[in-house]
Amino acid sequence: MLTDYHVHLRQDDLDASAESHFTPENIERYRDAASSAGIAELGFAEHMYRFTDALKVWDHPFWQEWALDDIDRYCEVVAASPARLGIEADFVPGAEDRIANLLDRPFDFVIGSIHFIGDRSLDTEEFTIWDERADPDAIWRRYFETLAAAARSGLFDVLAHPDLIKVWGRARALPSKDLRFFYEPAVEAIAESGVAVEVSTAGLRKATGEIYPSPGFMEMCVEAGAVFALSSDAHDPGQIGFEYDQALRFLDDHGVGEIAVFEERNRRLEPVGEVARCR
Ligand SMILES: [Zn+2]
Ligand SMILES: [Zn+2]
Repeated sequence: MLTDYHVHLRQDDLDASAESHFTPENIERYRDAASSAGIAELGFAEHMYRFTDALKVWDHPFWQEWALDDIDRYCEVVAASPARLGIEADFVPGAEDRIANLLDRPFDFVIGSIHFIGDRSLDTEEFTIWDERADPDAIWRRYFETLAAAARSGLFDVLAHPDLIKVWGRARALPSKDLRFFYEPAVEAIAESGVAVEVSTAGLRKATGEIYPSPGFMEMCVEAGAVFALSSDAHDPGQIGFEYDQALRFLDDHGVGEIAVFEERNRRLEPVGEVARCR
């Protein structure tokens, strides 16, 4: 079986309104794209911070700008379709109870992500953490400690783009230490918690040019007995199953023959399928 769970119904764009994107017609466009790519399990994972209720979790100015939509309306529209209902929920340390309240809805899966360290952003120019004072070793250490806390929080079924910190590639300073040193605490927490690790082809569309996670991080996860979820982080139907040839080779190279499938927040493992050749 092939899955694509980390899928957004619209671009990261303030003009992409819920009214025009959270519709049965738009969902149908994604379902058509999934079926021609041979993807049997399609799920949607809209960003938590685009819902007004997210401001009860965190009131960062970035979220204040983006939190415009009604989460229950989103849940209704997706739940009424054959696709799985998910969400990409930011892990905000210290706000675990408030996140749990927001996630108390009929999701099939919850994808946890870290886009901010403190109030500074890892992957946007706005509020960037990568200014002239940035200490890459300290930022990398803190990122993976936060990822470990996200794994241990029990809030999430999957850890999204697990080494998002590399998103800018060589355009931002890299740490001086071997990267495995930074992965270690996160891998330990992944092993203890059993949370699934996302293998995401989104990194291939970014400056890093690499799948998330990096091969070194992936090896450590495999050694630790982790399970994996497969997604593209598509933001339009054309990105469904993006570069899955590469993802399947990556899984195979690491001896991973099964991927996680979710329903009502229960997980099972299924053999990895093949990419459709009829696209
Ligand atoms: Zn994300
Ligand atoms: Zn995403």
